[in-house]
Amino acid sequence: MKRYSLIAYSHEKEILTFTASNYKRTIGKKGLSNVTLSDYFADCFNNTSTLFGLYKCWICVACLSVNKFSHGWGDKPKLCPTCGKPTYEVATFQARASHVGRAFQYACRYLLKESYGIKAELTGEKTPLYDLEIRPDVVVEAKGSPEFIVNPDKSKSSLGRAGMSRSDTEKKAFANANEWKRRFPKGHFFIVTNSLPVRMRAYKDEKVDGIFDITKKSQLDEFVAEANKLTAS
Ligand SMILES: [Zn+2]
Repeated sequence: MKRYSLIAYSHEKEILTFTASNYKRTIGKKGLSNVTLSDYFADCFNNTSTLFGLYKCWICVACLSVNKFSHGWGDKPKLCPTCGKPTYEVATFQARASHVGRAFQYACRYLLKESYGIKAELTGEKTPLYDLEIRPDVVVEAKGSPEFIVNPDKSKSSLGRAGMSRSDTEKKAFANANEWKRRFPKGHFFIVTNSLPVRMRAYKDEKVDGIFDITKKSQLDEFVAEANKLTAS
């Protein structure tokens, strides 16, 4: 049963380019720290938002129906400033989640290679259960997303919780770990993210080998140490 095809991810070239230049400008220039890691991922999220137009914006459908345009960036006003009818957010949630998620995966892969010499393969659509493969039995689910988006008018719109602080993301990551461990009971499944609730810090169980907020230098180092220990054997 083949449900997932190997179609090259659109705009991969642009993503590779901005990932490398963001790394160079932040971590490459100033070294690894909580600040440079956060800046690096934030820049990658911003670039991907620009590339795919993942801004927050609203429109008034009542105005549109009479060929008038009433719209704007950021969170929607309750009522249209022109006609007073309700406004609607232009729904880019689904696109946003998949594109920022992918930007995070590219950023993780580049960071691991440049800073630690760890080569990980991006799995793309090949497997829906994890995102980065260090070895067939050492796999990584990369769950990252920004807390806000910067709109073309430079306004910032909140997107709510980020990364593993989102309950839907947490559920998905654990479901994937479960399913993968069912198939590969002897394998190792890690989760890396850009936001981790305190209760999940240093979490591990029989399904998940570790969860790390890799925007924190200490947790990134812990993850790398675990991965190196496994791949050295
Ligand atoms: Zn209107």
